[in-house]
Amino acid sequence: MTIWNLGSINADFVYTVPHIPAPGETLAATDRKVFLGGKGANMSVAGARAAAQVKHIGAIGHDGLWTKQRLLEYGVDTQHITTLDTETAHAIIAVDADSENMIILHPGANTKIPQAILQNALSEAQTGDWFITQNETNLQRTGTQLAKKMGLKVAYAAAPFDAERVQAVLEYLDFLILNAVEAEQLKQATGQDPADLGVKDVIVTLGAGGADWYSRNGKQHFEAIDVDPVDTTGAGDTFTGYVLAGLDRQLTMEQSIALALKAGALMVTRYGTADVIPDLSEVQAFNR
Ligand code: ADP
Repeated sequence: MTIWNLGSINADFVYTVPHIPAPGETLAATDRKVFLGGKGANMSVAGARAAAQVKHIGAIGHDGLWTKQRLLEYGVDTQHITTLDTETAHAIIAVDADSENMIILHPGANTKIPQAILQNALSEAQTGDWFITQNETNLQRTGTQLAKKMGLKVAYAAAPFDAERVQAVLEYLDFLILNAVEAEQLKQATGQDPADLGVKDVIVTLGAGGADWYSRNGKQHFEAIDVDPVDTTGAGDTFTGYVLAGLDRQLTMEQSIALALKAGALMVTRYGTADVIPDLSEVQAFNR
């Protein structure tokens, strides 16, 4: 089947600086690297790396044609990524010698995805396909509502967290994934535990603590795989892509989570995000 991902696509500009600039300060960077990023793009790459057929729905500007090309090279179907007369979303990330960072995020095309692009894409979807979205684009509610109506299985990664936006889509969800901080924020907003949200499967990822899966059978805990982390960015997105890819090819939730734990652990041993997401052969061969 297919995983349809209505998701963000970012260009991450990472500048190495001697220190984080103070207000009013002009500071020369000593290095600049450009990476593919955005939670949406990360999840699409993770799903494709995990051997799923992933079709990304999104928007970029003319300055970001390379991001679409890179997604394609990573095995993501890019036919439903439109190019708009606006800037590609980007993050300006300054990292100093102590690994302290500062991030400016410009949402650009991510929040201007035309509804027609979403509708065209989903008109090709089939019952039983997965639909996933996060919180970095427009059209979340429209997308989840439409996907549910069409008989797709609907997943939501509630990041970056926004209580109102999560609550607006809860009724359409079959699967919700959040990290520990987001789960706590959702509990504060709704007064409910993950098990009581009315969503069939909820996963709360706990970083080095592993993950909890809440279902009608109650809560099941999974330990993380013990590694020495160097960079935790993208771990959650990789975990999500792997879980969905597993479920999409009819693995059980336990089997899918087992793969996702390995993929997440491998990810934190690497610097970078989309560009370094491990593929299925690496994940299957990873034994600790
Ligand atoms: P997010 O990146 O969304 O904050 P988490 O930090 O919870 O998400 O990480 C997602 C998953 O990645 C975890 O459930 C775990 O499987 C794996 N992971 C993250 N950090 C570590 C770590 N230090 N050691 C081993 N696995 C990790």
